[in-house]
Amino acid sequence: MAEEVDGNTILAEALKAQGIEYVFGIVGIPVIDLSIAMQQAGLHYVGMRNEQAACYAAQAIGYLTQKPGVCLVVSGPGLLHVMGGMANAQSNCWPLIVIGGSCPQDHEGIGGFQECPQVELSRPYCKYSARPPSAALIPLHVEKAVRYATYGRPGVAYLDFPGNMLMQRINSDVVSPTYPCPEPPIAYPDPNSIQKAAQLLRQAERPLIIVGKGAAYGKAEAAVNELVNVTNIPFLPTPMGKGVVSDTDSHCVSPARTAALQYADTILLLGARLNWMLHFGRPPRYDPKVKFIHVDICVEELHNSVPAEVAIHGDIGATAKLLTETLKGRYTHPSSSPWWKQLKEKAAKNKEVVTAMSLDTKVPLNYYTVFHHLQNLIPKDCIIVSEGANTMDIGRTMLLNILPRHRLDAGTFGTMGVGLGFAVAAALWCQKNAPNKRVLCVEGDSAFGFSGMEIETMFRYKLPITIVIVNNNGIYGGFEKELFNEIQSSGEVTKVTPPSSLTVNTHYERMMALSDKEGFFCTSIPQLEEAVRKSLMVKDGPRIINVMINPSADRKTQTFNWLTESKL
Ligand code: ADP
Ligand code: MG
Repeated sequence: MAEEVDGNTILAEALKAQGIEYVFGIVGIPVIDLSIAMQQAGLHYVGMRNEQAACYAAQAIGYLTQKPGVCLVVSGPGLLHVMGGMANAQSNCWPLIVIGGSCPQDHEGIGGFQECPQVELSRPYCKYSARPPSAALIPLHVEKAVRYATYGRPGVAYLDFPGNMLMQRINSDVVSPTYPCPEPPIAYPDPNSIQKAAQLLRQAERPLIIVGKGAAYGKAEAAVNELVNVTNIPFLPTPMGKGVVSDTDSHCVSPARTAALQYADTILLLGARLNWMLHFGRPPRYDPKVKFIHVDICVEELHNSVPAEVAIHGDIGATAKLLTETLKGRYTHPSSSPWWKQLKEKAAKNKEVVTAMSLDTKVPLNYYTVFHHLQNLIPKDCIIVSEGANTMDIGRTMLLNILPRHRLDAGTFGTMGVGLGFAVAAALWCQKNAPNKRVLCVEGDSAFGFSGMEIETMFRYKLPITIVIVNNNGIYGGFEKELFNEIQSSGEVTKVTPPSSLTVNTHYERMMALSDKEGFFCTSIPQLEEAVRKSLMVKDGPRIINVMINPSADRKTQTFNWLTESKL
């Protein structure tokens, strides 16, 4: 006679059979037994403190490994709390599987505990959202979830499990047979479009390559590096495209970003969308006559916002390789070109302005000097997680990435609260793949607040993450102590406390006392240096460095006030 198995075991083993390694979640009815079955099946279960953070951690693992992480949540509020995470993963095109427990089917429609239309709610943020019709069919839907999450443009899959289905016991011989989802097939570009692209690059006077996070996800670093070296074309990385080709590579023109975008006549787009991050590919940020060669794995993305001169549907690695083969020995953009001269001059000028601000160490500190000194102290191969407004934007220009997939930030959706969840995932990735590599999590004080309690998760799993909070007492800008006190004493607190303010000089570093560890409060560069050195040596858990900066410190003057431009 066949053995009996329950839904929990079928699901846990199906995930394991698909090569899933990590599950992040918060347990409760009806998924407690499921979490235990997952551990028994050999999956790493990581319990978090907030479902959103769990979902951010799961998707970061997906981005780092190309294998989706799972986010496990309870019914109703549990699932609702991960909507932000699902939307973030879908916007970033990162693979993720969300598994939600839901109320027993015989309680549905009559006011069941935490009853909620979970499959429908998830659908707008998913490529695939379903409830398997029976326990026997669970493995089939798990395979499909993995396939949808990873094939074509990666994204999110949601699977819904009513409590009764998880507990149901069935004969193991009726469980649907399944197979591990094969690796996604590589999409090769049309050879004609490669010829056209090569032709266009050859004719260009001011060519530019933009490297996006699609190139990072697609592990196209070897091919893209070779293309850049063979063609000698300047490149610009997007925020998470940083490190595919090192920020320290001589072809990187990040310090001349505005000029590179504005004056390029031909742009090869490798895994980046022409959305708000790249100013829609339109004037005034671009030359009205610029020609785009657009490479993407998602065919519907091609020609978005502006028509491409050459639209290439294909994998970035495969495409870059073919382009290199076509151009090698036949074309190199000369280092002596007016274009290279223009970009180098512009970069040198920008560096001068930034250096002046970086070396100004008077207290209260400014952003540039904090990041300049941080960059000098951190291991060059560390994974940098970052969020916040100015903290993230200025930090991105000052903290360098030399390796791909070593930067995780607010991303396409501009989400605040991702930092600590991403850092947890990055630290787990390091534990397994590079035990000596460090994770640096650079947070604005407001951004830190969204998921600050994940500090406890980091203690529990002994994750040696260095958290630097760049603290300006507020959202965007903050207030000086005297002014803040004056405001608060001038009337009813709820009416006068500015919406963008946070309590002055909040001692976030004292959260280290939760686990009897040392935190660091810094107002000067020598204090910061000592704190960073000490924090980088610990192995037993996180450290918080709370760096106070001038509440009115800001970015250097920008040429374009881009986010507020609109034609409506
Ligand atoms: P960024 O934020 O860096 O500008 P986006 O997230 O906007 O990047 O764009 C990434 C693009 O990369 C998406 O349109 C996605 O479809 C695409 N992409 C992902 N993986 C691959 C791959 N292996 N080959 C080609 N394109 C890819
Ligand atoms: Mg702030």
